[in-house]
Amino acid sequence: MTDFLRDLNDVQRSAVTATEGPVMVLAGAGSGKTRVITYRIAHLIRNNGVTPYNILALTFTNKAAGEMRHRIDKLLQSGSASGLWIGTFHSVFARLLRSYIHLIGYDRNFSIFDSDDSKSLIRQSMNELGITNDSLPVNAVQSIISKAKNSFILPSEFQSRPGDYNQQKAAKVYELYTRKLRENNALDFDDLLIKPLELFRAHEAVLGELQETFRYILIDEYQDTNRAQYLAAKMLGAKHRNIFVVGDDAQSIYSWRGADISNILNFQDDYQDSLTFKLVENYRSTGTILQAANSVIRNNHRQIKKELISNRSAGEPVTLIEAYNERQEGEKVAEHIRSMRQKDGHDYSGFAVFYRTNAQSRVLEDVMRQNRIPYRIFGSVSFYKRKEIKDAVAYLRFIVNERDNESLLRIINFPPRKIGDVSIAKLKEYAVLQDSSLYDAIRNAAEGGFQQRLVNALESFSSVIEKLKELSEYGSVYDVLSELYSLTAIPAQLQAENTAESLARYDNLQELLSMARDFSDHNPDSSSLGDFLENISLASDYDETRESDNYVSLMTVHASKGLEFPVVFITGMEERLFPLNTYEQDELEEERRLFYVAMTRAQEKIFLSWARSRYQYGQPQQCLRSMFVTEIDASIVRTESGELISGRSSSERASSSGTATSRGFQSKAPSPQSGIQTPRQESKSASKGFRAGAMVHHALFGPGMILEVHGSGSGQKVKIRFRTAGDKTLMVQYANLRIV
Ligand code: ATP
Ligand code: MG
Repeated sequence: MTDFLRDLNDVQRSAVTATEGPVMVLAGAGSGKTRVITYRIAHLIRNNGVTPYNILALTFTNKAAGEMRHRIDKLLQSGSASGLWIGTFHSVFARLLRSYIHLIGYDRNFSIFDSDDSKSLIRQSMNELGITNDSLPVNAVQSIISKAKNSFILPSEFQSRPGDYNQQKAAKVYELYTRKLRENNALDFDDLLIKPLELFRAHEAVLGELQETFRYILIDEYQDTNRAQYLAAKMLGAKHRNIFVVGDDAQSIYSWRGADISNILNFQDDYQDSLTFKLVENYRSTGTILQAANSVIRNNHRQIKKELISNRSAGEPVTLIEAYNERQEGEKVAEHIRSMRQKDGHDYSGFAVFYRTNAQSRVLEDVMRQNRIPYRIFGSVSFYKRKEIKDAVAYLRFIVNERDNESLLRIINFPPRKIGDVSIAKLKEYAVLQDSSLYDAIRNAAEGGFQQRLVNALESFSSVIEKLKELSEYGSVYDVLSELYSLTAIPAQLQAENTAESLARYDNLQELLSMARDFSDHNPDSSSLGDFLENISLASDYDETRESDNYVSLMTVHASKGLEFPVVFITGMEERLFPLNTYEQDELEEERRLFYVAMTRAQEKIFLSWARSRYQYGQPQQCLRSMFVTEIDASIVRTESGELISGRSSSERASSSGTATSRGFQSKAPSPQSGIQTPRQESKSASKGFRAGAMVHHALFGPGMILEVHGSGSGQKVKIRFRTAGDKTLMVQYANLRIV
């Protein structure tokens, strides 16, 4: 046995060495699924002599792909893994499409539109169809289209489906939007997944070639694949059938993006001869952390029963931090990081701070900065979405793909050249008349009978583009970018403005320049402008990678999937925030899985924090502690001062003992022990558990928490704070409430 196989337990080793035929590993968090993929690849190469080029490994983030590659290199102790196909579905498919997309009518130099670009194109399509944002919000249309695409439903099919009025309208937008993407020679993110399917169906020979190449296919986080990904994997693996997937249904958190948990459940049906391995030992977390996570996920009805036992000692209890607002919450997190660092000698990199929504990151960031704690945000609405970066990138994109009208419209009058909307509309008409691209119309504007002033402005624009295009033929990305800066004077302008904001933007542009240099240095073989742009497009939200190492990681819970940290802070543990507003039981279960993912990232210690008041939509809002906190076995949760917590928050305790509190509804709320409630034997509802603090479900208003209970018997009323419907007082007798 090669040495490295000794680092595995028996079941893991069997999963690694069962290399032929379809295999699934279905197992809980931290049980070594990702490790098994890594070792299996090393085993295929080292022990079975498989050429790395014949192995395709699909991960959920680019960061995960980078880490996996690094580990495989280490296991093989040589560069013998080069040629391996490893990356996200999006990045691997983008690479494939660069080679083959001309077969389905695109140029190989297609642009990749991020969600902002695609939104703007959808908005444009809606305008042309006379659909206003008021009647149907663009975000809703974008999500309908994306869902259709991810389920691999094409516009024609979508239109012929019965649907309500909005669906019908969205179907029209979908069709026009698709046409426009094609005109722009552009793909959106979803296209990166579905265009390969179109290609495989239309060109069997290509599919055959790829099937031959990918003799071994391995997929991590299989529970979060969507229909298109599932189909692609199935088609690519159809010849050799060496398809290896690992996943955990309890960690499925992307159904809002079309992920389909049934892909896991159907695997055994699809591959009747498949082997399934179950890993039950958790190597990551202490016993207490696992106990906490298990006690929460147990509340979900839809899940495959799985055993998960800790391989480690019990460890420390979960600490619950209560703050009066989000700033104090941040301060307390910073304080704990500082003191633990001193006491336990953790590096900053041992700490991660999670939040449910991106908006929460700003305050946390401020606090970290003020406390001089180095931190990095993973997946903020990041660098690449900042205006100045998008402007610069639009220039680069347009240089590579002249048909990219989105980029063209972004830069034609930036920096300002006095080319207004009216002129642009005329140019578009002219292009249609000439049957030429918009850019050709610009280049030929002199013959179009336009005002001389406009012709001059257009010429000054196209001369910039032409110069850069020429430079890009032989120069590096860095050269092109610095020439762009100097020709357009965008950075100089920002510097001259000399405001805090303009200087920050200036810095960002410089950062892009250093990225360009870095890129050329690290990718000597593939450092074309197109490669650089592809890299930027794929640096998706949750995916920033940076090499420096000693910092606290800040990220959304979604972005934390697959990762691990010694100490984890989960912030914003409040009703309506985590779980986020929701009516639906299914959505609540997904929120709970998300919380499960968050907790199972921790190796040694979990802190949960919540604030009694938090700014939302510009107003301070009173908050209730999350129901999820109450779901954790109370015996393993402690307050900051080390006391056991009860089922209620301290402010609730304060109110029941008569102390004044800012939260009006609580000052009236009777405590369960206060005796105001009807004794058990007299009231059916009391025996059903209607008490302040209980979580209930109403058929119409969805989930909520009882704030107050009044009266007894048939006259009993309850005041409930519903997650989405607000506060309501209902008669118990008629409300048909269900305790959840
Ligand atoms: P998740 O579901 O969160 O993605 P996972 O099942 O992919 O988790 P891994 O990340 O592969 O789990 O493993 C969790 C941790 O346990 C890692 O630090 C890994 O190195 C370690 N580990 C896994 N198996 C073993 C083993 N047999 N011996 C020692 N450590 C192990
Ligand atoms: Mg994993």
